[in-house]
Amino acid sequence: MGGTREARELADIVSGERGFEIVSSLAGRVREPVLPVGEVRVGGFGGVDGLREWLSGNGVEAVVDATHPFAGAITANAAAAALALGLPVLHLRRPAWQQRDGDHWVRVPDLAGAAKALTGMGDRVFLTIGRQGVAAFAESDAWFLIRAIDPPDGARPARHELLLARGPFTLTDETALLTDRRIEVMVTKDSGGALTEAKLEAARALALPVVVIDRPALPEGALSVETVAAAWDWLRGLR
Ligand code: NAP
Repeated sequence: MGGTREARELADIVSGERGFEIVSSLAGRVREPVLPVGEVRVGGFGGVDGLREWLSGNGVEAVVDATHPFAGAITANAAAAALALGLPVLHLRRPAWQQRDGDHWVRVPDLAGAAKALTGMGDRVFLTIGRQGVAAFAESDAWFLIRAIDPPDGARPARHELLLARGPFTLTDETALLTDRRIEVMVTKDSGGALTEAKLEAARALALPVVVIDRPALPEGALSVETVAAAWDWLRGLR
């Protein structure tokens, strides 16, 4: 289950190994996705039942949920479908970002919490949560710089600029963007990983506050690892 850099890295490793066959699954959210090597299927399965049928119909022997830390629905479905079929399932979650000296973070549990927290924090907001969830900020009076790979669906704040861009982003570019747009506060998911971390470094350097949305919890009892190497060890251990 993919849609992340880690999933592509794992597909790279596994597809080169004798005795393993891998199929990567993408949701189909991004118009021009970066594809992993090997076999790829695209689109939803139709809930837990659809996923269960697909897994058994395709002779799948193990599931690695390497989806984004905020893709909570497919993670829950992967866990439930694998459990129903008695298949081993592993969740690969990159480590969360850690607050450092000089950071001014406000942690919130979800999108609604982020929209609420913004009140009084500044009029010019850098909203860097991807294209999903922008509607949670639609009622805000603030001005937003919204950055995403593809345009967001649904409602947007009345005053905004849409910037379509795909990471990775450099510290120099992020600092220039924040300065140029006179950003006063940033909103991000706690996605983790190096690809989009430069925005946090830029905010630190400019002493900007950052509203950080916490990750949804993994399903209860879920087996999880933080690195591609550990996921590969787990897969090899199944043989
Ligand atoms: P989600 O809310 O957990 O999933 C919603 C529905 O989309 C799922 O129930 C499933 O539909 C389908 N789906 C999601 N991931 C899928 C996959 N890898 N393969 C097949 N179907 C999938 O997921 P999301 O947050 O929309 O994320 C969608 C994809 O984008 C994921 O693959 C994720 O890794 C990637 N991504 C997400 C984010 C983010 O911030 N959420 C960021 C970067 C990349 P059915 O119920 O019909 O099976």
